Amino acid sequence: MNCPCCSGKSYEECCKPYHTGEKHAPTAEALMRSRFSAFAIPNGEYLMETTLPGKRKLHNKKDLQEWGEINQWVKLEIIQTPALNHVEFKAHYIDEDGDPQIHHEFSVFQKMHDRWYYVSGEFLD
Ligand SMILES: [Zn+2]
Repeated sequence: MNCPCCSGKSYEECCKPYHTGEKHAPTAEALMRSRFSAFAIPNGEYLMETTLPGKRKLHNKKDLQEWGEINQWVKLEIIQTPALNHVEFKAHYIDEDGDPQIHHEFSVFQKMHDRWYYVSGEFLD
């Protein structure tokens, strides 16, 4: 199958090794892509694990899993990566009512012990 993150590569050659823990995403953008794929799969566990430990209390694995399940994840568009730890993206999805939605976010990532983590995001229009 094509990787849900729209890289044009197969899932096996793209985000799967990150989801299985075989490899760690080498850049914030790769982590961002693998997190989008984790919503599409969905894999709430991975979304939780790739959140900065100090921020995990703000999230809940079950909610992440459900958010992945109820929506249909259509497309990821990386708008820009203005710094190593910043990614602006648009996630296109179909919500549970069948309406197309765009989640536009400016995300902040942090590298710790050689691994990238999602810190937080600012939602844009
Ligand atoms: Zn991918």
